[in-house]
Amino acid sequence: MVKKTIAAIATPLGESSIGVIRVSGEQAIAVADRVFFAFSGKPLASLSGYAAAYGQIRNGCDILDDAVALVFKAPKSYTGEDVVELSVHGGRLILTKTLRLLFENGAVSAEPGEFTKRAFLNGKLDLTKAESVMGLISAQSEAQLRLSRAAHLGAVSRKIEKIEEDLRQAAASIAVFSDFPDEEIEGLDPVHFLEMLKLAETETGQMLATYDAGRIVREGLDTVIVGKPNVGKSTLMNFLSRAERSIVTDVAGTTRDVIEETVTLGDLVLRLADTAGIHETEDKVESVGVARATARMETADLVLAVLDGSAPLDQDDFALLSQLSPKNTVLVVNKSDLGHRLTDLPDGFRTVVISAKEGQGFDDLCAAVASVAGTAKLDPDSVVLLNERQRDCAVRAKQALREAVTAFSSGHTLDAVGICVDDALAALYELTGKRATNEVTDEIFRRFCVGK
Ligand code: GDP
Repeated sequence: MVKKTIAAIATPLGESSIGVIRVSGEQAIAVADRVFFAFSGKPLASLSGYAAAYGQIRNGCDILDDAVALVFKAPKSYTGEDVVELSVHGGRLILTKTLRLLFENGAVSAEPGEFTKRAFLNGKLDLTKAESVMGLISAQSEAQLRLSRAAHLGAVSRKIEKIEEDLRQAAASIAVFSDFPDEEIEGLDPVHFLEMLKLAETETGQMLATYDAGRIVREGLDTVIVGKPNVGKSTLMNFLSRAERSIVTDVAGTTRDVIEETVTLGDLVLRLADTAGIHETEDKVESVGVARATARMETADLVLAVLDGSAPLDQDDFALLSQLSPKNTVLVVNKSDLGHRLTDLPDGFRTVVISAKEGQGFDDLCAAVASVAGTAKLDPDSVVLLNERQRDCAVRAKQALREAVTAFSSGHTLDAVGICVDDALAALYELTGKRATNEVTDEIFRRFCVGK
């Protein structure tokens, strides 16, 4: 089947110095040649791959814009097909008019993720690399970027390929044995065979072990800041977001509602909610905020419980402390610039002493948050699965390998072991896309935006 030649704007629509339109497919160069005219007079079809030409986008005699055309020849392009990238001035009208002109000259509109999908179908990248593209684009923190980059450079693919290779050997040995069950089969040393299965299971388990920490790095921590009025919650929030989003005042109870904000703390993204103080209140408006904050404390990934370190703990503080769990809480003892007089803090909690006003103690806060989040030991450059789909495949592979180990150890027939090994391989093939169904790939690429 001849694939259509697709075109889409690859850069955000707004006002920028340049905007790029990507064209991919067998007719990409021919289509581009109908709208782009190089000042050299040479058609794009006469250029070799990785070449650029400077010229104009024209609709008949009508000049739309100056442009640079980049030509990539199949298979040496992002999609593996012929690709032309047209760089024009980054105005909404210029970009949409150029795109329309390409449509009028033979291209069709690309579907979401279609460029990357074609790259996948043409064997330019596997599913784990394709999925990392979204992470590269949306990364907000250095660690998010490194996680996605590692996957994009093939860390996940390489790891899985190694496990697959071992399992393929195992499956081959079993197949030989099944065909000639009475013969001594070279290569099927039972001790070695069992070790290999166990190693594959362990390695699959290791990939799964980093998933939760990786997810937190990618998605951020649902974070709630709690504390009685005037301990410095808004000041802390403002320091973190470096923007005057919450009202900071000396009058107790002025932070009325929950304001959502995303900030980065060290390597992590915190999805923050500044809340009304956790304290008994008669005030109707405020009590809504208090109830919401209390509810969020139980479900949040991270609770930053702020205490005023310059004054002794009182009833409100103790009431708050009694509701906290060390599992998701960092006690933030604030106002260290006024001296730190708190002595009777509960055991078991990670505690940091800071001055939100002076910006002191934030390295300690970063470390404490990373420790609560379980990301402190995560190496973002290593193999970390990127999403639920990948995790689900890895869980199924590990389960099948466990069954293979059990079946082999307890003397089941090799055929039974072989079925488990095949199941494990099938799950891993699905993870990297070697054997993913159309539905799975369609679903993955649908989540991309047009132009990717
Ligand atoms: P909230 O009610 O918990 O949100 O408290 P605010 O952030 O509104 O702060 C209450 C008061 O404490 C304000 O006057 C702040 O300037 C002050 N404050 C907050 N953090 C610090 C700090 O680290 N040191 C000092 N000295 N004052 C602070």
